[in-house]
Amino acid sequence: MINCPECGKEVSDTAVSCPNCGYDIRKELRNIERNQIYQDIYNNVEMPTQPKTPSLIGIIIDLCFFVIAIIIAAVCGIILYTNSNSFSEVATSLLMISILVMVLTVVILITMYSSYKEQKKEYDLSINDPETYRKKKADEKMEYVRLPSEKSNGKYTFHYLASFFIPIVGFILGAMLLSKDDELVRDKGKNCIWLGVASVIITFLLVSKNII
Ligand SMILES: [Zn+2]
Repeated sequence: MINCPECGKEVSDTAVSCPNCGYDIRKELRNIERNQIYQDIYNNVEMPTQPKTPSLIGIIIDLCFFVIAIIIAAVCGIILYTNSNSFSEVATSLLMISILVMVLTVVILITMYSSYKEQKKEYDLSINDPETYRKKKADEKMEYVRLPSEKSNGKYTFHYLASFFIPIVGFILGAMLLSKDDELVRDKGKNCIWLGVASVIITFLLVSKNII
């Protein structure tokens, strides 16, 4: 038994809605479930270790490649400019490759630096304001959490397929599901209708382009 958050009366936790005021009890149960999972994740957030600064050797190697690429590009540029035919094909290929290497080295350097900056920011936050850090991490993880009670998508695969391939079936199924008490089931109904609409639009586009 739980207390209805709307009218406060005791309601069975197997009820779909409150018999007294009609409040969506499943929604309330999902909220309780979600809060428990959130608390659990929040309490188990791992604090980060101090990030290592980008290695000097890595930066030097990266810069060496960059300089070598510039030199090769310059030499190839001169060869192409002076138009000595016997080398022009090789020079063009080498110029392309060296430009690619230059771009790559710059991208690698920026990535190294920005990933360090990002880790440092997280680390500083975890030291200065652990509460906010925990909350941020827990919120991020919650995005990917599916509640056990929400894991009923598989049951609707057939509904979705039917809705897409026979839009009228989608509209009928959608209307049927939308009339249910459970908010989650109503969401599935909306999905059916959207799939039907998408199917009609796609068919219309294909027909207007004379593809089918
Ligand atoms: Zn109630």
